[in-house]
Amino acid sequence: MKRIGVYTSGGDAPGMNAAIRAVARTAAGLGVEVVGIRRGYAGMIEGEFEPLGPRDVANIIQRGGTILLTARSKAFLTEEGRAKAAGKLKEAGIEGLVAIGGDGTFRGALKLIEEHRIPVVGVPGTIDNDLYGTDYTIGFDTAVNTALDAIDRIRDTAASHERVFFIEVMGRHAGFIALEVGIAGGAEIIALPEVPTSPQEIAETITASFKKGKRSSIIVVAEGAYPGGAQALFKAVHGLTGFEARVTVLGHIQRGGSPTAKDRVLASRLGAAATRTLVEGTSGVMIGEVEGEVTLTPLSEAVTKKKPIRLELVDLAKELAG
Ligand code: ATP
Repeated sequence: MKRIGVYTSGGDAPGMNAAIRAVARTAAGLGVEVVGIRRGYAGMIEGEFEPLGPRDVANIIQRGGTILLTARSKAFLTEEGRAKAAGKLKEAGIEGLVAIGGDGTFRGALKLIEEHRIPVVGVPGTIDNDLYGTDYTIGFDTAVNTALDAIDRIRDTAASHERVFFIEVMGRHAGFIALEVGIAGGAEIIALPEVPTSPQEIAETITASFKKGKRSSIIVVAEGAYPGGAQALFKAVHGLTGFEARVTVLGHIQRGGSPTAKDRVLASRLGAAATRTLVEGTSGVMIGEVEGEVTLTPLSEAVTKKKPIRLELVDLAKELAG
């Protein structure tokens, strides 16, 4: 291969820039040119391409978001849109792609492979950590640390005012952020989509903890844990018990910010491995890290198989809630 493209797509995640840098520099080392595709599939359709040499990616490893921008593209969901994108790639002499994103991004990549025989290798970039084939996705560690910082601050207020707080964290349909942040933040209760917790159970746990002498509680709620999120869950608990509580939805502050060292190292490693894998002639796989080793998982499995949460961590959280 003489020229490859790289793009970021779906939700931005801290560490995407470190991955872009790794792609540009690894490819340069292999004598392969890199083209940056702006705004994900939307930019691919419009031919928004720019050369991405090793110097163009200087001073970005510490930056959150993505220098290539990202977008969600309705047009790419159509065969016509994808044919237009494939045409633009061919015109620009782009022979293969590194796709940095989540499961939607990889579903799009699979279509490009099937319909247009364009080789694609995926790099898992999403704060949600909901991809099969990697222990951690790029951006997850940063999002957890950002949410944790917020929870530590809220805990000061919860303790001072002897209050219960429901704190909603991101994660879409998965509870990885909530579980990790809940344990690290010493939450009394963690509500996860994977392990349904009823308002009744929460009411009982709060009542029991207050009987034991607790005067404040932090309840971490994954956004997908209850229809309507933390606000609705609080209302249901309030309806049962009359308990007062404050609700905080952390929202988009969890998506941005400078990536942690862990995310930068992961992104560097996966971006470099993806580039080598693509240039050596492999396509249709996602590069991940499993038990410390770089691994390849078919994209078709990465988007269809469900990564389980660690139930022993759920038990640990309950055991330590006191
Ligand atoms: P995140 O997990 O952070 O949300 P993501 O990659 O899952 O990231 P999506 O918005 O689901 O984000 O997908 C990104 C883009 O990929 C979509 O806007 C769309 O253009 C394309 N895409 C998603 N699913 C498909 C599909 N089934 N076929 C073709 N393209 C798709």
